[in-house]
Amino acid sequence: MTDASVVILGAGQGGFQVATSLRDNGFDGRIFLIGNEPALPYERPPLTKGFLLGHKKKVDLPLRPQMHYESRRIELLLGEEAVAIDRHTRSVTLRSGAKIGYSHLVLATGARNRLLEAACGIDGVAYIRTLQEAESLRQRLDSAQQTVIVGAGFIGLELAAVLRKLGKSVRVLETMPRLMGRAVSSSVSDFFAAAHRDWGSELAFETAVAGIEANAGAVRGVRSCDGRFYPADLVLVGIGVVANAELAAQAGLPVQNGIVVDEYLRTPDASISAIGDCAAFPSRYGAGLVRLESVQNAVDQARCVAARLVGRATAYADVPWFWSDQGDLKLQMVGLTSGADQTVIRGDPRERKFSVFCYQNGKIAGIESVNKPGDHMFGRKLLASGADIAPSEASDSAFDLKAHLLRHSASPEKVPAAQVAQIAMTQRAG
Ligand code: FAD
Repeated sequence: MTDASVVILGAGQGGFQVATSLRDNGFDGRIFLIGNEPALPYERPPLTKGFLLGHKKKVDLPLRPQMHYESRRIELLLGEEAVAIDRHTRSVTLRSGAKIGYSHLVLATGARNRLLEAACGIDGVAYIRTLQEAESLRQRLDSAQQTVIVGAGFIGLELAAVLRKLGKSVRVLETMPRLMGRAVSSSVSDFFAAAHRDWGSELAFETAVAGIEANAGAVRGVRSCDGRFYPADLVLVGIGVVANAELAAQAGLPVQNGIVVDEYLRTPDASISAIGDCAAFPSRYGAGLVRLESVQNAVDQARCVAARLVGRATAYADVPWFWSDQGDLKLQMVGLTSGADQTVIRGDPRERKFSVFCYQNGKIAGIESVNKPGDHMFGRKLLASGADIAPSEASDSAFDLKAHLLRHSASPEKVPAAQVAQIAMTQRAG
């Protein structure tokens, strides 16, 4: 154990980025990147998109080749699960029994799928989070014809679009009255509901699952609480995730839906940070502690922690953004819009290119764009600058967004000093 050794638990999107950014920032100590999955760190978004369609292969998924880790002296321990954190001795115990000491520990353990209790132990009920699950789902798809998807969130709907493309029959069951209900405005929900129906999926809202019916252990369909039966030879469940926060909790760290961190992404133990899907942090874009599940969040939080560990501490303030590809529709969201009380539409949904500008207390809170990447980039820059746009300006298609941004970003009093670096980063990322 050297004096400066950073141990990163979780070799996913965030863990990979901390390790890489640490070296890029000149950190010279040991870096351990420990992951319980056997594969090199890989990107998850293609799993419900190009990978199932066969457009992306397994070899396309790793974030970097093995050589990347060797050349940066990142000690990659794959297929190794951390089972305990000892804060007194500053060490992590692995399932193999090995103990690894740290001077700083980064928890990047992500999240796992919420399980549908009624489906336990039934063959033909699938979840998708990992490459292994995606591979076994791809095999199952060869023989599956009738599918039921439980949950009309991003994962369920991306799967629905893919399965329709593959010619499967698709029924989506959702307990809420609209799809992606926790994440997007009702205009976007309605637009996507129409699109999925056009592609041939059947959508059932306000429909809760009462049970999964099986024949000799193999699924034969889903029974809903209102007594209807949806026959299926494959049931896919996408009902949200649970943060992998147990290790932190067992080590006495606070957990509230995720591992609680401050604006520097530190737990109350200054030698432990948490990032990505597993972390609950104070965001200036949302009320209270928020936990976000997105590539942007994992990557930017990783960079923030890596910078702090080499002495360049800044509070985490990156603008949240997310995307979802469903059929030929690219949905991009910026900001946190769940508290919005007013929306205006820019563009024409009938042209399949539009954005919904979401306001809270009269101030822009975020933008949801469908096939409008320009509006999305505008939103990222606008929110980073702290500037606003009036609903009447946003809904006027002739209103020049670029000029608006230039006008507002150009006046120094509109851009607090602390945000200037943030804007530069966002522009580089774009
Ligand atoms: P992860 O990437 O999940 O990595 C965490 C890793 O830690 C996992 O490998 C986990 O097994 C491991 N781990 C957990 N506990 C331990 C332990 N005790 N010891 C060792 N290892 C452990 N985001 C978008 O922005 N756009 C998209 O289109 C999109 N599509 C997605 C599609 C799918 C199918 C999924 C699953 C996610 C998608 N996401 C998307 C979300 C995005 O991939 C995640 O937000 C991101 O991967 C989070 O990174 P992370 O490092 O926090 O967690």
